[in-house]
Amino acid sequence: MNDSITPARCRSCGSDRMAVFLDLGETPLADRMPSAAQLAEPEPRFPLKVAFCEDCSLVQITETVDPELLFCDDYPYFSSFSDTLLEHSRANVEELIAARGLGPGNLVVELASNDGYLLQYYQQAGIPVLGIDPAEGPARKAIEKGIPTEIAFFGIELAGRLANTGRAADVIHANNVLAHVADTNGFVAGIARLLKDDGVAVIEHPYVRDLIEHNEFDTIYHEHLCYFSVLALDRLFRRHSLYLQDIRRLPIHGGSLRLYVGKRDQPSERVRQLLDEERRDGMDELAYYQAFSDRVTQLCADLRALLSRLKGEGASIAAYGAAAKGSTLINVAGIGPDLVDFVVDRNVHKQGRYMPGQHLPILAPEELLRRRPDYTLLLPWNFADEILAQQAAYRKAGGRFIIPVPEPTVV
Ligand SMILES: [Zn+2]
Repeated sequence: MNDSITPARCRSCGSDRMAVFLDLGETPLADRMPSAAQLAEPEPRFPLKVAFCEDCSLVQITETVDPELLFCDDYPYFSSFSDTLLEHSRANVEELIAARGLGPGNLVVELASNDGYLLQYYQQAGIPVLGIDPAEGPARKAIEKGIPTEIAFFGIELAGRLANTGRAADVIHANNVLAHVADTNGFVAGIARLLKDDGVAVIEHPYVRDLIEHNEFDTIYHEHLCYFSVLALDRLFRRHSLYLQDIRRLPIHGGSLRLYVGKRDQPSERVRQLLDEERRDGMDELAYYQAFSDRVTQLCADLRALLSRLKGEGASIAAYGAAAKGSTLINVAGIGPDLVDFVVDRNVHKQGRYMPGQHLPILAPEELLRRRPDYTLLLPWNFADEILAQQAAYRKAGGRFIIPVPEPTVV
């Protein structure tokens, strides 16, 4: 039982008109993968509830876990481990350099710069860069590669300090971080402070429309505080005199938005169109979100039934990808050692550890070929193409993958 009553206030507008439409129970932190020695220690669990703000339309979880606990220094995520992400970043950088004529006189800042996976492409083109990231492991890696990086949380305070030393950004990148910061308004105010008057902030994060319409409930975890619609974003940015100038929908991470945000209120046709479509489909009303909970319950029941049936037929089952979304999926659906023998992951920092909550051991991907499980549950289904291609040998040898979302499918 969790008896702490958090009077939920909206992270964006401060309203208390918050309606919870999904309760995923109490789950462990999705990125905290215990080592063998830590298995005996109690694992912290926190409520995972999703609410809709009836004033500004922002979808958000109600619980804020202390960032020091979430993004501790052994945080095992290194961006450069994904080929898809690197290619996505390189293309984004090349396009911006060309479109804005960037050169040695400009400055590009990335918030949550990780190990420098994106800034490296600017640096290779001779453009000054600055990374900002509170996670010490990946940030040190970036510094070793020669990418200047501040190891700190970004907000209005840090932005002010940088601006006072004469720094102003022509481009600010913020990929998959806006939805993760506890002080949403402080983060956006910081962007406004650091950005040049004619600069652009290029911001990516998952799109709540894709989450709802494709049953992507496993993208909900404690690190991921907000799930944005364009309507909610428009209100958030305007509060800080920033404006949506253009938007693209991207397939990455199960459906994302790339926002182009600046200081002039000049929305493109695409921005107007997305706002109109959201209003038309009722995304600023609670009813749009209410059927989601039943679909999540059904998906989890279907997935468990499929795995139990295969197991009953004598099949062996592994899982691929010790990502945060995998942790939500196995903990909410209740997929433990009775159904899945082990998980494999390319990230050497995760190998030898265990999945949160269910404590499935994490091994190297080579174990798929060595142990030949009959089925492998693909947890990071957003990288399905990349992973299925990498695992061609396993599939050729008869191994099958199970893709859990939007509905359990064997391929
Ligand atoms: Zn609100």
